[in-house]
Amino acid sequence: MKENGSLSIHSENIFPIIKKWLYSDQDIFIRELVSNASDAIMKLKKLNDMGEIQLPDDPHFKIQVLLDDKKKLIQVTDNGIGMTTEEVKQYINQIAFSGAEDFLDKYKDKTDQDQIIGHFGLGFYSAFMVADQVQIDTLSYQENAEPVQWICDGGTEYKIDSSNRTERGTTITLYVGEEGEKFLNEYTLKNALQKYCSFMPVDIYFENVNAPSTEKSETDKATEEDIPKPINNPSPLYLKHPNDCTDEEYKAFYKEVFFDFQDPLFWIHLNMDYPFKMKGILYFPKLKNEFETMEGQIKLYCNQVFVADNIKEVIPEFLLLLKGVMDCPDFPLNVSRSFLQNDGYVNKISNYISKKVADKLKSLYRKEKENYEKYWEDIHPFVKYGCLRDDKFYDRMKPFVIYKTTNGDYVTLEEYLERNKEKHEKTIFYVTDEHQQAQYISFFKENDLEAVILPSNIDQPFISHLEMKENEITFKRVDSDLSDVMKVKDDTTSDDEQKEVNEKIEKMFHEALGKEDLKIQIENLKSENISAMILLEEQSRRMQDMSYMFGNLAPGMFKEEQTLVVNKRNYLVQKLLDLQQKEDKKEDVKLICEHLYDLALLSHKPLDADSMSRFIKRNQEILNRLVE
Ligand code: ADP
Repeated sequence: MKENGSLSIHSENIFPIIKKWLYSDQDIFIRELVSNASDAIMKLKKLNDMGEIQLPDDPHFKIQVLLDDKKKLIQVTDNGIGMTTEEVKQYINQIAFSGAEDFLDKYKDKTDQDQIIGHFGLGFYSAFMVADQVQIDTLSYQENAEPVQWICDGGTEYKIDSSNRTERGTTITLYVGEEGEKFLNEYTLKNALQKYCSFMPVDIYFENVNAPSTEKSETDKATEEDIPKPINNPSPLYLKHPNDCTDEEYKAFYKEVFFDFQDPLFWIHLNMDYPFKMKGILYFPKLKNEFETMEGQIKLYCNQVFVADNIKEVIPEFLLLLKGVMDCPDFPLNVSRSFLQNDGYVNKISNYISKKVADKLKSLYRKEKENYEKYWEDIHPFVKYGCLRDDKFYDRMKPFVIYKTTNGDYVTLEEYLERNKEKHEKTIFYVTDEHQQAQYISFFKENDLEAVILPSNIDQPFISHLEMKENEITFKRVDSDLSDVMKVKDDTTSDDEQKEVNEKIEKMFHEALGKEDLKIQIENLKSENISAMILLEEQSRRMQDMSYMFGNLAPGMFKEEQTLVVNKRNYLVQKLLDLQQKEDKKEDVKLICEHLYDLALLSHKPLDADSMSRFIKRNQEILNRLVE
């Protein structure tokens, strides 16, 4: 049967082109060869299941990947359907090469790798990305089949001969060349196998024939560890029906796939048949600490073969913050990303998942409110990011975004507005730092007011988004404005008299502090114990915060618009007015005004170094005066 042939292809040598253009990741050869092996086994299984052939009761289907770094070869062996001589000629020589020809015809002039679309039946030839010579030894399952050998060195010439193979199935031997040398390293090869083949439906065993064997004395009994274990999980959990999966299984699968030692918070099992097929599990991970930026990983599979990680074009960007696996059998293995962007199919997947996620959160909110509140700290960045990125997601999630309040409970925006509407309408007060703004919070509480706590970086863009989307609502930080309920009306004196006193106080502070651009506002605050406080204009503060966040704050770019509120009802302030009348107390007045201003600043934020030393010095001075 010996035959030397020439591949029916016009190009001199297609392999350099394959090498260059077909796959950007060299390690894909292992995916192609192992999935061919797996297909060969599945085909045989099917024949057996249909009763076309009779296999022994337990044929233990398996794929063996063998590494021999000394001989520089990698072998992939299966006990699948095998090929007859005719089939080798047809499938390997003709079909695959006609695919190659199509490929060449279409793309020889294209220079953009992204243009290469679809699968050209070139999978097997990806072996030449790493091998100088490829050999097939195969024996078909058919009765009286003769074993066949096919050898090709990457040119257009091939050799077919009889093989000495005795078992049904196929062995592909790669004589690894310089370009594939790194795969002769056990770690690298195994890594590639684990990346692409973790969920393939047939047991895969790996063997390094030159691995240093652990010496054993004769008395050592064979332990469980000596029995070779497959390196893959042929029936991953996501394939099971959701009703048949336990929480423990979901958690174990998560840990196995993502090497995370923490349990996920909860998950969504995707199981869809129409209008497209898709199975998968999306996990909401627990954030390890509050400063960690969320970074997820969504692994995409096609019929249990790994395709790629985090494909933005398929999965809505914000979902990439989650962790999960998705298997879309209708998905072509080798598709360019620019093609995916314009694909309606992909859009549907995106919409479907985004809806599923919103539905899950909605049902948690409705049925397990306590858990939902418990999870909120971990999931809120994800939800808010989703709302910013995806309008539909925003519309779906809007009623289920919750806010922690200074009273310690959680409310929706609607609930907050409703329960505070008598005190302030359409305004949401918020806190960004509970420690720094503690004085303001207690002032709020004294006045029977509440604020929501929004400490994360995502909160600022999120509230701006809400203000834009929702009519007429405004967010105000607790240090930016006074609500009317914090003030009392003074009916004891006439408006004119009040105005006069106000002007006096204002003038007194202006003179003492000598700060031209500091606004001074005189109020009758309900809380008599507060002498003065600082307010920062909301919008200018936001601008400043944003520039800090993006690290591009030029000095003086956005000036804080500060207002010093002085409380006329405070004892000290009233006393100051009296003191001011006395000629010999002018210095005391200045001292006290400065001090009140510093105290107001202090309850707003830490003083800078200069102000701090001035403040300390002044404290000394005040004490000195007390003992005089
Ligand atoms: P594809 O897998 O997309 O059809 P390939 O180039 O990878 O393209 O393979 C071409 C054909 O060669 C396969 O369709 C199959 O018929 C045959 N083939 C490849 N590997 C094996 C194998 N291990 N066992 C049996 N047949 C195989």
